[in-house]
Order: sequence, then structure tokens, then C-alpha cells
Amino acid sequence: MNRRHFLALTGGLAAQTATLLRVPSAEAAAAAAKSRLDRIAETKARILPLHSKKGPVRPGDWLDEHKEDGQSFAQFLTTHKTPAQKQYPTLYVQPLGTFTKSQRAIVDHTVDFMSRFYGMPTKVLPDVSLAKLPAKARRVHPTWDVPQVLSTHLLYEVLKPLRPTDAAAVLGLTAEDLWPGKNWNYVFGQASLSERVGVWSIYRNGDVDGTPEEQKLFLQRTLGTATHETGHMFGIQHCIAYECGMNGSNSQEEGDRQPLEFCPECQAKLWWTCNLDWSVRFQKLEEFAQAHDLQEEAEFWKKSRAAIAK
Ligand SMILES: [Zn+2]
Ligand SMILES: [Zn+2]
Repeated sequence: MNRRHFLALTGGLAAQTATLLRVPSAEAAAAAAKSRLDRIAETKARILPLHSKKGPVRPGDWLDEHKEDGQSFAQFLTTHKTPAQKQYPTLYVQPLGTFTKSQRAIVDHTVDFMSRFYGMPTKVLPDVSLAKLPAKARRVHPTWDVPQVLSTHLLYEVLKPLRPTDAAAVLGLTAEDLWPGKNWNYVFGQASLSERVGVWSIYRNGDVDGTPEEQKLFLQRTLGTATHETGHMFGIQHCIAYECGMNGSNSQEEGDRQPLEFCPECQAKLWWTCNLDWSVRFQKLEEFAQAHDLQEEAEFWKKSRAAIAK
């Protein structure tokens, strides 16, 4: 099986409990939430014309093989009444194992991009070595002869114990190839919603030292997987309504067809749960895209900024 990712949907974020010294009245809090939801609805409508409905499903695509119901913003709100950011205000990236200089640059760019995309401070944790993993966490693929690391071991035995208490998510990044267990050839990434940890490999993202086009593709693939899997950790399910970064994906070819940005319905979820300023977000994403020669994306975020400025 060649899956872009293998997601353990094992529950939502822990129940939200706010321990504030001064708690605003319930009425004032409800009014503030209503006003924010009204502004989200208005902004969502403004960017809607920039997005495309999901195109026809091709044979072998994710939706060709998986029956999914989708998730509207209204549905998301029923299980995420309080923004996750209020309890978990920080994202963390955990480098796992060794990286070449070019690969390390990709990790740095991913950290920068995540902070812009999710509007949260994103911190890098000190490197963790994979040199002394137990034998059960390593194998050589039986037919390809490729050394691989067990993704579930990284999630539950390495990342979870290191997770800081304020972490909305810990994103483990490795240059090693991953496999998620019996009957799987490999996996690009895997996340646990209930534990707020995920791990992604850049091993299959192409040639990081190749032509400028290959380097760009490598970056796009890494950013796409990081934002998609982090979306899951915030409770965002696969999108079936629009062409969207939260579309499920069965192969690298299908993943490459998907946009980096989320559709209005899925963006509204992250605006709400990350408690972010969408106008600042568009501007910061446009600046990133310009700096990394991602022209199509830069143009899209420029248009998004213009749509909400009218
Ligand atoms: Zn997914
Ligand atoms: Zn979507």
C-alpha cells in the first residue's frame, strides 16, 4: 500500500479547561464569540470565488478508494467550541536523526512556514538522535533493501514523552524512510490526534539538491504534508468539497495536484481554532511564497488579501 499518510484518528483535543484569574462573564464571552464567528462567515464568503469545487475523482484517487463524509465549518464547531490556541498556544518542530545541509534548510523553512500558516509561534526542539533505536523500531524493507524506521515508535516512544505542555502539536521531521507496521511498504507521515504528535519523512520528497524546479517541488511537498497533518491534529478532517490542502491523497502524484492552501471551509476552522488574524496570515504567506519563488502561491495569497480588503 502506498499511502501518503496513515492517520490514527483516536480522539479530539483534550477537554478545554481555562484557568483564568479573571473570567469574563458568560454573556460577554458568548457575544465576543458570536462577533468573531460573524466576521469569519463574512471573510469566508469573500475568498470563496478564488477557490474551486473538488474536481472529478480519478481512478486510484483517495476518494475512489475511501468513502468520506467531509466536514463543514459548522460541524467542526460543534466539537471545537473553544479555540485550541487558548489552551495550547505553541507549535513545535522536532528534528529526528541527521540531515544534510540542504535538508536542514528545508526544516528551517518548514518551521517558518508553519508559524505563518497557523498563526502560532513555532519553536524548534533540540535534535534527537535516532542512532540508538531498539531493533523493533528499525528494519530493511524486504524487497527494496531500504533502511526504514517504525513511525509508531517515533510517535509514542520518542515524540510523546518530549511533548511540552503548551504544545498544540509536535511535528517530528526526519530524513529517514518510515513504515507504519505490518503489511505496509512505507508511509510519508503519521499523526495521532489524541496525543497531538505527528511525524513526517522528507525521504521521498524528491531531490533536494537537484534543479531549482526539483528543489521547489521538494519544499512544496514538505510544506504540504506538514500543514495537512497538522490540520488533522487540530481536528480538521479530510475535505471533499473543494480543491484543498486537506484533501485526502493516495499517492505523491495526487498530492502534487492539490493546492497548499486550504479551502474557505477548512481555513475557517484554522482561523477559529488558532485564533489568528487572517489578514496578517495572508500577508505573511505571500511574503514567504515570494521569498521562495513560489509564484503561483504568492499570487493566490495576494488575491486572497485583496478579496478581504475591499
Ligand atoms: Zn489526511
Ligand atoms: Zn477544504
